[in-house]
Amino acid sequence: MNAAAAVRTTCPYCGVGCGVLVRPTPPQVPGAQVVHAIVAGDPEHPANAGRLCSKGAALGETLSMDGRLLQPRVLGRDTDWRLALGYVAAGFRRLIDAHGPDAVAFYVSGQLLTEDYYVANKLMKGYIGTANIDTNSRLCMSSAVAAHKRAFGEDIVPVSYEDVELADLIVLVGSNTAWCHPVLFQRIAKAKEQRPELTIVVIDPRSTVTCEIADLHLPVATGSDVWLFNGLLNFLSEHGVANSEFIDAHTRGLDRALAVADNTAGSIAAVARRCGLDAEAVQRFYALFARTARVVTLFSQGVNQSSSGTDKANSIINCHLLTGRIGRPGAGPLSITGQPNAMGGREVGGLANALAAHLDLDDAEHRRVVQQFWNSPQIATQPGLKAVDLFEAVHAGRIKAIWIAGTNPVVSMPNADRVRAALRRCELVVVSDCVADTDTTALAHVLLPAAAWGEKDGTVTNSERCISRQRSFLSPPGSAKPDWWIFAAVARAMGFTAGFDYASAHAVFLEHARLSAVANEGRRAFNLRDWTTLDADAYAALQPRRWGERPFSDGRYAHADGRARFIATVPRAPAHAADAEYPLVLNTGRVRDQWHTMTRTGKSARLMAHAPEPFVDMHPQDVLLAGLRVGNFVRVDTRWGSMVARLRSSGEMPRRMIFVPMHWNDTVSGAARVGALVNPVVDPVSGEPESKHTPARVCAYEVAWQGFALSRESLKLADTTIWSRTLGPGCQRYEIAGRRERGDWGPWARRLLGAAADADWIEYADPATGIYRAALLREDRLQGCVFLSRRADLPPRSWLSSLFANSVLTHAERTGLLLGSRAADATVDVGPVVCSCFNVGRNTLIAAIREHALASAEAIGNRLRAGTNCGSCIPELKALLQMPRPACKEPSWSDSPQRPPK
Ligand code: SF4
Repeated sequence: MNAAAAVRTTCPYCGVGCGVLVRPTPPQVPGAQVVHAIVAGDPEHPANAGRLCSKGAALGETLSMDGRLLQPRVLGRDTDWRLALGYVAAGFRRLIDAHGPDAVAFYVSGQLLTEDYYVANKLMKGYIGTANIDTNSRLCMSSAVAAHKRAFGEDIVPVSYEDVELADLIVLVGSNTAWCHPVLFQRIAKAKEQRPELTIVVIDPRSTVTCEIADLHLPVATGSDVWLFNGLLNFLSEHGVANSEFIDAHTRGLDRALAVADNTAGSIAAVARRCGLDAEAVQRFYALFARTARVVTLFSQGVNQSSSGTDKANSIINCHLLTGRIGRPGAGPLSITGQPNAMGGREVGGLANALAAHLDLDDAEHRRVVQQFWNSPQIATQPGLKAVDLFEAVHAGRIKAIWIAGTNPVVSMPNADRVRAALRRCELVVVSDCVADTDTTALAHVLLPAAAWGEKDGTVTNSERCISRQRSFLSPPGSAKPDWWIFAAVARAMGFTAGFDYASAHAVFLEHARLSAVANEGRRAFNLRDWTTLDADAYAALQPRRWGERPFSDGRYAHADGRARFIATVPRAPAHAADAEYPLVLNTGRVRDQWHTMTRTGKSARLMAHAPEPFVDMHPQDVLLAGLRVGNFVRVDTRWGSMVARLRSSGEMPRRMIFVPMHWNDTVSGAARVGALVNPVVDPVSGEPESKHTPARVCAYEVAWQGFALSRESLKLADTTIWSRTLGPGCQRYEIAGRRERGDWGPWARRLLGAAADADWIEYADPATGIYRAALLREDRLQGCVFLSRRADLPPRSWLSSLFANSVLTHAERTGLLLGSRAADATVDVGPVVCSCFNVGRNTLIAAIREHALASAEAIGNRLRAGTNCGSCIPELKALLQMPRPACKEPSWSDSPQRPPK
């Protein structure tokens, strides 16, 4: 792409923070909103140097106006901004006057821009006067924040992505980097390719695709990381690897940390037993860490989302402090955030227990500094409620008004049904979002239309502290406004006129930068002094830049005495152990091509093709012992909720653990919202929920029939117990099942697909086997089809959905329609999509690997192009190459890729 003609912006998904070049395509209809754009990686952005993963590469497909919230809505009726702002301001004012400021709350998002976050935080903490503002980042990395504060005195990530490439040992803990931070994974893979001596250790209970580049995989038992890293601390100390000079000059607390580590971890054999690992593997990991000076330990949600997440992170940091491997090139602990601007939110104090500009809410002098700077009438004096407690307070009626901005807590929070119940009983629920229909907007009294990615202007900070611009290339449609504008407008409507008269995102950014420099004579590393003089043109042209070049290189930390702290970490098991009633452990997380609750990635057919329906992943032996069948439906129960989804056995799972992706919600599925099952217990320090460990049980979910429907139009499903909706190329795909036996399917299918009596309708029914198939055509163009059976013996969906791209069906296609394949050429079914960039399916890959004896991902790329664009599928290509040839066949039950069992 011609970079000069493109808008330089930033990807709105994960915390890698890749730079994106966007060239909007001209509107098809004069004057219409542009809804397509050509998207490419920005070769000049330091995070990605031109790379994008599958999600970033598909950004141009997510810009449609479908489902956008375009108008303010009060009590279900469209209205204008003046009335909506007045309603929100009056509602908040009335409840504050009657019950005090702690009776209201904001719940915001790591997807807001820094400027949005800043204004929301200022309004709540400085003007309304409570710290009841928390963010969905609480669910993602607040344990890392707490650990940084404890160890360093300030929430600072001391490592950059270049350090990862400079390291000689990379330890990936609780991170499926290949799927959740793909471009960073590609950088690691490239470094490994260039320097094969670079050693990679993956510590994760699951054998994810990230393990494809690992020299050593430690499938640690969930929640046992502190034992593992306490054991490492002991080992390093005992083997003379402690850096005494560094420890003496720059740290405190080693003796106690070591004593606790010694008491709790014990010998390598004891650590191995406790962590469910092989002692030799533990020994090997310890020896690798001990002998490698340049070590980066990268950790993510597998560490953070735990009732001991803060201690886990500190046990990792302890090992870096002991060896002095921090503040130096190629060394240090690196927390990778899940969201694009979790870091920006931290900088403005978006968490309920933070202030702004890395100042502390519990420090009276810090509060005075901020209040004086804001010239605000008051300032919150104590920490507000963290996410789980906040919604609990809504449920209890202590919080009577909540404003939810850019997030979907009815899906993403643990114990999500209780969050739904809490919102149902709340007096005033305001939701600002760009999406009209989510599980959360359904409960709002007031909906405020927010600008979406591509329409917003501001900054984000990625996981390596790099501030980048998000630039608009589209006008907000309808009445949509930037979030900072909405917060400021409500503030003014509440009477806070002086502090919220911002003319632009630039004005907000300058104020934020100035605050970071106030009373900060080197006391806080977070200091944007150099940014405070940016004029509008300089802000518009701002290049990506990290704040705080190599923190801690001078050995000074932010604690008052300038020293880092070892934290004595006492290991503890997850809060709720599996037991006889709930013998398994439910683990949740992401899949490669989806983002959060699918409101954006769900708009791209090619992203949906990778994992088109919700699933429960289980170890094959557990499947066998439970008498279940892969491909059938199962019900998962926990003490908090239940769900139903299809069973798979990918080969990634350890015994007695199941994995369910976090993305499916009630707008795209009937019973697969996993948040409802997740245990709401939190880490006592950070308040982060334990989303990786909920005791669960799985049983067969018997259905009388199952099937799928493909249709150009949205369908209204009746008599369907289980369903999930996904996008195909030119069609919507519904996986459906029901528990009630039916006799004649014909009338039901005709109603479903909207077939008139004289429609071009073909059908096949075999009542003896319960097989029913029908298709509706209009002028030889396929409009829809439905395939039903008593069993999971249904044809693959890929060939059928490909027919929707055709304006007219050929004779062979029409003949094969009710077979589900073109009989004469079965290989035309490409199978489940593995490479979403070039739409290369699993069947095609397997055939090519066999036929041409392909032996590497490069060879596959040369022949089929798979893996040659974004590279997100390369780990899966490598897994296919390793498959024993006889196992290389498409799973018959669903279009989902599988890996060989281990
Ligand atoms: Fe976006 Fe992918 Fe880069 Fe993450 S790795 S920022 S999702 S392009």
